Amino acid sequence: MRVYNFSPGPSMLPLPVLEKAATEMTDVNGSGQSVMEMSHRSKDYKPIIEKTEALLRELMGIPSNYRVLFLQGGASLQFSMVPLNLAGSVFADSKAKKRMTIIDTGIWAKKAAEETAKYMEVNVAASSKDKAYTYIPTAPAPDANDVYYHITWNNTIVGTKWDAIPDTGNVPLVTDISSSILSEPLDVSRFGLIYAGAQKNLGPAGVTVVIIRQDLIGTVSEQVPAMLRYDIHDKEGSMYNTPPCYGIYIIGLVLEWLKSLGGVTAIAEINKNKANLLYDYLDASKMFYSPVEKKFRSLMNIPFIPRETESERKALLEKSFVSEAAAAGLVNLAGHRLVGGMRASIYNAMPADGVKALIAFMEKFEKQ
Ligand SMILES: *Cc1c(COP(=O)(O)O)cnc(C)c1O
Repeated sequence: MRVYNFSPGPSMLPLPVLEKAATEMTDVNGSGQSVMEMSHRSKDYKPIIEKTEALLRELMGIPSNYRVLFLQGGASLQFSMVPLNLAGSVFADSKAKKRMTIIDTGIWAKKAAEETAKYMEVNVAASSKDKAYTYIPTAPAPDANDVYYHITWNNTIVGTKWDAIPDTGNVPLVTDISSSILSEPLDVSRFGLIYAGAQKNLGPAGVTVVIIRQDLIGTVSEQVPAMLRYDIHDKEGSMYNTPPCYGIYIIGLVLEWLKSLGGVTAIAEINKNKANLLYDYLDASKMFYSPVEKKFRSLMNIPFIPRETESERKALLEKSFVSEAAAAGLVNLAGHRLVGGMRASIYNAMPADGVKALIAFMEKFEKQ
């Protein structure tokens, strides 16, 4: 029996995608091979990666002056690749000459800032740390000399999301959309660079999607490893080395599934309805609450905390909630180890019935 998996990532994939992959496991498109067995440069694989990119472009509305790269190393490697590439000849120049601005909205933003600080000056222009990251701070205007401006669109751990794209003028806006890619429409043309690890809303772990405006793919210092250079990956069509072939194939199936549902506007409606069911329940609950300011609530990651404040009773309640829910087929509801409480991650592939089952379980738990 399949469970409803509320994991923040890797997370649920649509059942029709898994079923299709199963039927194609040993022979895809009459090639007599599994996707895992074929050369990435073969005539059999080429249409697979091309279809995946074309569908991503179509569904996200990616303008033609943007390049799409399928890389490895997770979103975490982008924390280094973005500064290494966008700062130009960063090793040759004195580090103090280059500066970027970042908004601190939680752990992933902090990690991006830490890696970036190895190569350039990091200006943390605003932070929501004062209220445990339960809101998105106002984004100050950038300094015109900043190399780029970085925001984390959906904050997976604390469950916040930007409600509007900040205006950064001519300074390229960079965003991490690992946990919200394709969950609702996003105007790609407002960004210089967008990146996302696949394992939350797009496919299996091992693929990272980078969408970059063509003019930002500059030449970087020769000291930067080839594998970390956007210009090289771009020139080679994401095939400088062997790409994560199977993961890219699964992403293609996920995108086909999404298109069949009606694309991003259709899934955004579904996602809003799913999230509202849970937030409405939480706002009325006497046992749990959402700590996140309403305006900034994520559609994808919904933390909830017991109202009980006595620490031993609270810990016991959390523990029994998570284990009893798991026994009822609702798994991975524990909050992030750094935040505590509970968290339901309800990405595109989580059916509305999964959210309804969670709410029914919570109502029953609360009564008991
Ligand atoms: C999960 C996540 C990451 C880390 O992704 P990896 O692919 O594991 O490196 C980074 N940023 C956000 C917003 C995430 O949700």
